[in-house]
Amino acid sequence: MTQLQIFLEKLHHTYGITDAGQVADYIPELSKANPDWFGISVVTTDGQVFNIGDTAKNFTIQSISKVFAYGLALEDHGREVLFEKVGVEPTGDPFNSIIRLDEGSHRPYNPMINAGAIATTSLLKGDGPTDKLNRLLKMFEHYTGHEVFIDMPTFISERATGHRNRAMAHLMLNFGMIDKDIDAALDLYFQQCAVMVNCCDLATMAATLANHGTNPITQVRAVSEDYVRDLLSVMYTCGMYNRAGEWAYRVGIPAKSGVSGGILAVVPGKAGIATFSPPIDDNGNSVRGLRVFEALSKQYNLHMFDLSMGRCIFCI
Ligand code: GLU
Repeated sequence: MTQLQIFLEKLHHTYGITDAGQVADYIPELSKANPDWFGISVVTTDGQVFNIGDTAKNFTIQSISKVFAYGLALEDHGREVLFEKVGVEPTGDPFNSIIRLDEGSHRPYNPMINAGAIATTSLLKGDGPTDKLNRLLKMFEHYTGHEVFIDMPTFISERATGHRNRAMAHLMLNFGMIDKDIDAALDLYFQQCAVMVNCCDLATMAATLANHGTNPITQVRAVSEDYVRDLLSVMYTCGMYNRAGEWAYRVGIPAKSGVSGGILAVVPGKAGIATFSPPIDDNGNSVRGLRVFEALSKQYNLHMFDLSMGRCIFCI
């Protein structure tokens, strides 16, 4: 067994016993998750895969989808057009905050908060709703390396209860920031959030970004290399809800988390890492996930600004 596998097993054992955090329930279907589910996966850019725990358990991707939808929107429209519609500034506010939409330019601050993500998804090209959805699913398939499906109960559950997201879409329509067909945009956004993945898929998706946009296992390109840096930049500054600053300080690699309990992070050029554990803290980040990433970053000197030449297991 490799050093890395041994270390992952140790982390899984150490942090598996914590019972801090709560399973999200504001989308009713999410409350059915088992708080004990816990997985850690690492996929390297040379195609090695390390798994421990519940890494094959399917769950809905939720906010983590925002990174990848942003990549598709960049491919569809280019950097400057997209920048006019959605900014790249962190807010320090909760992911579902509506307040800043009503001030200044009315442009959503960044594509990782709900307002920015809904605006981004509303821009995706396609010949009607089915074609747009199929383009999104195809993109996710390139990242994961297999067919992906939407969890219908979660989609329906969020569509029925996502009043805050609906309110944001109406506000953006009021300011002329998104197209008038907001119901279609919201449906597509709720569908992208309900795409099912497992922990190993998330690590593979992160490894694809680490590998310049090409899936390191299938060798299929998922996103143009030109835009990988855009995705990593917004992940680094805005990917961890209103803990993005502390994450950048303590862990120091681009990452994105979702309210269903997933976190993925990219070690550029080296690997993708993912954790899955449904109990989340007040910011929306998985409690066990945060602890695992802090420990991994410390152990392997993953912080991007750590200039000491330390152990780097991903260099094997
Ligand atoms: N679908 C969720 C929402 O819009 C995603 C939130 C998240 O994972 O942060 O509320």
